[in-house]
Amino acid sequence: MKLKILGSAAAEGWPGLFCECATCAEARRLGGRNIRRRTAYLLDESLLVDFGPDAYWQSVEFGVDLLKVDDILFTHSHADHLNPLELSWRRKGYSQVERTLRVHGNAHVLGRIRRETATPDEKLRLTMQELHSGATFAVGPWTVTAFAAQHASPEEDALNYALHKDGRTIFVGNDTGWWPDSSWEQATPFRFDLAILECTYGMLNPDARSHHLGVASTVAFRDELRRRGCLGDASRVIVNHFSHNGGANHDALREWFAPHGLEVAYDGLEIEL
Ligand SMILES: [Zn+2]
Ligand SMILES: [Zn+2]
Ligand SMILES: [Zn+2]
Repeated sequence: MKLKILGSAAAEGWPGLFCECATCAEARRLGGRNIRRRTAYLLDESLLVDFGPDAYWQSVEFGVDLLKVDDILFTHSHADHLNPLELSWRRKGYSQVERTLRVHGNAHVLGRIRRETATPDEKLRLTMQELHSGATFAVGPWTVTAFAAQHASPEEDALNYALHKDGRTIFVGNDTGWWPDSSWEQATPFRFDLAILECTYGMLNPDARSHHLGVASTVAFRDELRRRGCLGDASRVIVNHFSHNGGANHDALREWFAPHGLEVAYDGLEIEL
């Protein structure tokens, strides 16, 4: 099974569109792995996790064949992870679409898609499955378990996912914050072959735990997964979902995380399990 990182930035992208900070200036100068699109993933060829404002660019740049994608799994409704407008082009008169696309997400995600496309699901050829934390469900060939994140508004059930197929389990943990006890307990029986963790605040707020993590709390999150047996010696842990406000470009993040045994994501990184 394969996972491709299509984007590795938080809300504004990196460099931020209008940002005048030194980190963004450096990213514009250096290019390469310092250019980060909004966070999303492709698993094998048929499952996308999140579909944000960079989806068009990502599909072209990384050869995502959207005609082979059967399912989109959304983590939560924030604008860097969900851009309903692009789904509205599935309508008759804009595109010729016969294939049904299955969309899975919490009530806020489905609500935003329905409100902002203002089009009945069947006219978009979408089927929508509402997800809840604590539950396990099928997404195409994948068995997916949802964990409650400590992220988003209290009314929204922001989700992190364990995805299991062919004897392998991937954890997608962007926008976790520091988990509530219920999620730690729910995760304890799992063993992740690959875990993707978030580090939105980078060096700006190293110990952040509310809504997002920083460099030190990301390592602490990994340590807690390890303590509970969720990570083995062969498990890979990759850090993702970075904000330019964190103040460290790719090489500085890599230098910080390498001694801790964590890898730093970049757009286009492909992992084969
Ligand atoms: Zn985000
Ligand atoms: Zn900036
Ligand atoms: Zn978010």
